[in-house]
Amino acid sequence: MTSTPAPLTAVDPARLTEVLDGRWAHVRRDAREQLDDPKYAPVYGESMAEARARVTRLAADLAATGRVALGFPAAYGGSDDNGGSVVSVEMLAHADLSLMVKAGVQWGLFGGAVQALGTQSHHDRFLPDIISFALPGCFAMTETGHGSDVQQLRTTCTYDPATETFDLHTPHEAARKDYIGNAAQDGRLAVVFAQLVTQGEGRGVHAFLVPIRDAQGRPAPGVTIGDDGPKAGLLGVDNGRLSFDHVAVPRDMLLDRYGQVAADGSYTSSIENETRRFFTMLGTLVRGRVSVGGSASSATKVALEIAVRYGDVRRQFGAPGEDREVVVNDYLVHQRKLLPALARTYAYSFAQEELLCTLHDVQGAPDVDERAQRELESRAAGLKAVQTWHATATIQACREACGGAGYLAENRLPALKADTDVFTTFEGDNTVLLQLVAKGLLTGYRDAFGSLDGWGRAAFVAEQVRETVLERTAARSLVQRLVDAVPGRDEEVAVTDRGWQLRLFEDREKHVLEGAIRRLRGRAAGAGQVRRQFDVFNDVQDHVLKTATAHIDRVVLEAFVAGIDRTTDPAARALLARVCDLYALTTIEADKGWFLEHGRLTPTRAKAVTGAVNDLLRELRPHMRTLVDAFAVPESWLNCAVLREEPARQEAMAAHDASLRAAGRGAETGTDDPTATDLQLAPAQ
Ligand SMILES: Cc1cc2nc3c(=O)[nH]c(=O)nc-3n(C[C@H](O)[C@H](O)[C@H](O)COP(=O)(O)OP(=O)(O)OC[C@H]3O[C@@H](n4cnc5c(N)ncnc54)[C@H](O)[C@@H]3O)c2cc1C
Repeated sequence: MTSTPAPLTAVDPARLTEVLDGRWAHVRRDAREQLDDPKYAPVYGESMAEARARVTRLAADLAATGRVALGFPAAYGGSDDNGGSVVSVEMLAHADLSLMVKAGVQWGLFGGAVQALGTQSHHDRFLPDIISFALPGCFAMTETGHGSDVQQLRTTCTYDPATETFDLHTPHEAARKDYIGNAAQDGRLAVVFAQLVTQGEGRGVHAFLVPIRDAQGRPAPGVTIGDDGPKAGLLGVDNGRLSFDHVAVPRDMLLDRYGQVAADGSYTSSIENETRRFFTMLGTLVRGRVSVGGSASSATKVALEIAVRYGDVRRQFGAPGEDREVVVNDYLVHQRKLLPALARTYAYSFAQEELLCTLHDVQGAPDVDERAQRELESRAAGLKAVQTWHATATIQACREACGGAGYLAENRLPALKADTDVFTTFEGDNTVLLQLVAKGLLTGYRDAFGSLDGWGRAAFVAEQVRETVLERTAARSLVQRLVDAVPGRDEEVAVTDRGWQLRLFEDREKHVLEGAIRRLRGRAAGAGQVRRQFDVFNDVQDHVLKTATAHIDRVVLEAFVAGIDRTTDPAARALLARVCDLYALTTIEADKGWFLEHGRLTPTRAKAVTGAVNDLLRELRPHMRTLVDAFAVPESWLNCAVLREEPARQEAMAAHDASLRAAGRGAETGTDDPTATDLQLAPAQ
């Protein structure tokens, strides 16, 4: 069953931009104006050396604009604006992804670590030069042997009270730092993560400031620097390797906000538990992860803008019986490629905006709210994973949607593909991040019931699941109202009913989570046998990951609903509501198997979902251009040949149509269209 809402009317893209730009609209506007300069546009066909040199120059130019200081304390010329600093990085990602990553490394990871893990003396000594880019630096956490499991890093930093220095050492090849941004060429100082040992006792991973090069670019004594060489993308970023051969690090170079070593080597920390301390330290660095998710979405928007605009001028095959060739955006399957991806991109924009607000408020609060911080980390992990996977899939779809033109470097898409590819891996491998999300959902129960097998009565567990699933998003009361308004029987409700969609998402999350808990408990009990803890979790890993994706889908839908609620322009609101329908229904359609298997959809209703999706595609077709124009990406950042040629192509096509009409060829060529009823095949090339 589908409803028949009022037809959509034309929307001014600026009205949508206002909504998408959200709380940091001023930062986005400033970036569009300040950086609307061809020098920030992506460059194609450079060598690695050229790309690195250009991006280093641009990083210095960027520093001179003052934009990079946003997230730093006012005392150093910043604005203490955590949300704004992430938005600033996201904006760069529309233009040059190497520059975005270089900036992310310098001011997000390196500067961010000094700020978050260091104390006043570190700030006074280093932040001004970090902000100005006079002191380029690295964030050296990953080792060749350990990337995702960074608690197991092997680099050691052992304190010697006699010299009041630490001895930083790489014990073997697998312990060398690898993939480190800014290491191969520019970095002079590095935040190095290593196992702290003092008074003969390991204290877990801590961060140390270590000079790696002198002002002339020569490696510091005891430091070996390698180059990771050419990569699949991000040519302008100098990723490299670092090894340390008993390098002496002064005691005051320990970033000691969370753990201090006194001159005599005694260790103190406000966080007793080593694992908790480590994760607290990592938690303060969440900004980087949020920037990567948001930047992936910026790149997705650029790809969609290129594909949609190209699809509006590109024509293939004659329309049967008509004097015209068909614009490819008019083909249903072409719309299937682009519009659901566009709808999901809108959905993620609203979710990212909500995440930015949470980040800003939680990290800006005078007191640490541990629960809020944990939720922030979980949300950041989940949204980073889905946005970067969405970028990879969508940019590929856009490449194909542009045919051969999409494969040419001058049309931007190959670089977008290559540069964003690794976003699924750095700042946390996506699969590992989803496990973090799932763990967060499951931990609620463990906290409440102590251990896996102590989870109590099934009914009680179910109630707990409900509570966690309904852990409030910003739009909770609005969502509850919509859900409560759904009349009883599913079959009587339109599939475009928002309350029904929300209820279905919520119900799936709850069911999947309950199932995961049941399976975990069953395995823990193990029918009398003692199971290895690894197997207990590993046997249900796929199920556990599904809890994470179902959770994120629901959070994203609720953020979209909240975004629509904030939209005041009636035409924009109506358009967004349809786009939201498309996001919700294509998400349901993609998981039809689960909904059917679990009796949440009847076969008839599942077919109705597909029917409604196709109706929405037809309805949204005239608004495709508006939807991408609303991203408001300055033309200079797109640097895409087919878009520059747009007016000429339109003119050529109009002339071509006119010549067809003059020759009266429309009716003859009509059956060349493979969609014509006789299904005559398209001529081979
Ligand atoms: C271009 C680039 C730039 C980078 N910049 C930096 C930087 O500046 N500083 C820095 O410190 N690091 C940096 N990194 C490192 C990056 O953060 C790591 O590569 C990333 O964390 C993944 O670690 P890994 O490569 O060891 O992969 P692994 O952790 O070895 O993952 C390999 C595979 O195993 C799977 N896997 C791992 N654990 C599990 C599990 N528990 N369950 C199921 N599957 C699992 C993963 O999903 C993945 O498919 C960069 C990397 C690249 C490529």
